[in-house]
Amino acid sequence: MSNQENSLYSGDRRIRNIVIVGGGSAGWMTAAALAKVMGHHTSITLIESADIGTVSVGEATIPNIRAFNQLLELNEDELLAKTQGTFKLGIEFVDWYEKDHAYMHPFGPYGQNLSGVPFHHYWLGSSEHAGAPITDWCLEATAAYQGKFERYTRQRGRPVPTNYAFHFNAVAYAAYLADYAVDRGVKRIIDHVDEVRTSKDSGFIQSLMLSSGQEIAGDLFIDCSGFKGLLIEQTLHTGFEDWHHWLLCDSAIAQPCAIGDHYPPYTRSLAQEAGWQWQIPLQNRWGNGHVYASAFLEQDKALNVLHANMPDTPTGDPNYLHWRTGRRRQAWNKNCIAIGLSAGFLEPLESTGLHLVQSAISRLLSLFPDRHFDDTLRNKFNQYSREELERIRDFIILHYKATRRTDTDFWAYCANMDIPDSLSEKIELYRHSGRIFRENLELFSEISWFSVLNGQGIKPNAIHPLTEGMQVAERDSLLSQLKTQTQQQAQAMSCHQAYIKQHCSMESQ
Ligand SMILES: Cc1cc2nc3c(=O)[nH]c(=O)nc-3n(C[C@H](O)[C@H](O)[C@H](O)COP(=O)(O)OP(=O)(O)OC[C@H]3O[C@@H](n4cnc5c(N)ncnc54)[C@H](O)[C@@H]3O)c2cc1C
Repeated sequence: MSNQENSLYSGDRRIRNIVIVGGGSAGWMTAAALAKVMGHHTSITLIESADIGTVSVGEATIPNIRAFNQLLELNEDELLAKTQGTFKLGIEFVDWYEKDHAYMHPFGPYGQNLSGVPFHHYWLGSSEHAGAPITDWCLEATAAYQGKFERYTRQRGRPVPTNYAFHFNAVAYAAYLADYAVDRGVKRIIDHVDEVRTSKDSGFIQSLMLSSGQEIAGDLFIDCSGFKGLLIEQTLHTGFEDWHHWLLCDSAIAQPCAIGDHYPPYTRSLAQEAGWQWQIPLQNRWGNGHVYASAFLEQDKALNVLHANMPDTPTGDPNYLHWRTGRRRQAWNKNCIAIGLSAGFLEPLESTGLHLVQSAISRLLSLFPDRHFDDTLRNKFNQYSREELERIRDFIILHYKATRRTDTDFWAYCANMDIPDSLSEKIELYRHSGRIFRENLELFSEISWFSVLNGQGIKPNAIHPLTEGMQVAERDSLLSQLKTQTQQQAQAMSCHQAYIKQHCSMESQ
């Protein structure tokens, strides 16, 4: 056997041509990441249609996006300036549990674990402190409500990083990444894919026929073509698992409006009669959108609700969007991998769309195939994609299920609907014992789950017995100290607008 045959390297089996269809956020995030890590020995081509627009939404992110930007070695201040971005410390949910009630899902922790026991047990068990909102012990939530922001605060003389994400203009973000990818050798073709050619024997995709008559061949095809899934569904007929019965919202109307000088460092989610409305502050406008269930509300009424609850005068036209909630049965089928909306969609309540793109890219990099397309790699990719999406699905369903609202048919349905067993188990464990566990590769931490379980009014019947290792007076005094410390840290932060003006103002571009 020659050295070549004996080698563990892929050699001739190596993927040489990657073709990405779609130039939305998913396409350009994928192209940018592949261009960064693959180097020039692999050809990467991205095809985007001039006739089919992108969804042009996806303005709120979660903190993991920073890891993606760091992989690309992006300059965060420059990125925010070019995308009119602001900082995000959490999401406020208004009228979800009941009308005139609000809570926050912040990105940072509450207090600190004491003797290994999560802080919320001490808060729940304290007769002196349980009346105060638990967000008083969370720096990110306190700063958010005070309109403050810093990337670092000081605790006992040491810098402590803040947990934050961004709000940004999604179209500008994709454009920024497009420049990045093209600078690193990605070939950009603006043309329409008219036909997809597959092998008669294997069913693998071989090439794409473009409107211009050009034929683009490839080894690996990445489907970032949006909801319709041009390759993964329309060509490979992979199948779709529908979750519409748990997540009724299937439509949205997005429309920006003017913003004054005040842009809070958090997203707002206002529950409405058959869905909810987002308010996302950017440096130059509010991003607004009404997500609703079309079975319960007509489109013109949905537009009225959006306008009635906008913080300022609309600018720009409404953008109407419709989708099917659920997941593609296999995100990776044959030599095609679906990333972005083509892989499935969960409504944007917890801003997980771009994160799902990012995590699919990181899974692809870990399980990157050669031209043999080993089934074990594909199966792992599909298993992890499914598990990740199911856990996020459960987290989003929780917001609808755990409500006291029955004032409209929509909310009455949600309050009474059956939910997945995996979610029931999580709620029951918490209800019985205050305990929360993060399963396998689950995206949302115990802190996130606690924020929503508690915010949506679920009270545990018991707390962790180990809290009793500390005397009541000692616990209460520690809680007082931690609260004071949190408030002082927030006080010392800059005003969010001032921080942006100093570091990443869009006017600096
Ligand atoms: C209402 C709503 C709100 C959202 N809010 C958030 C949020 O706050 N945060 C978040 O993280 N995510 C959010 N998302 C999700 C996020 O917008 C998407 O995950 C992200 O934009 C990725 O979209 P995409 O690139 O997969 O698809 P698209 O943006 O639809 O892009 C599809 C691309 O495919 C191209 N294409 C299609 N057909 C062809 C063809 N035949 N030939 C050539 N090219 C073709 C199109 O030209 C386009 O470039 C939201 C989604 C929706 C629907």
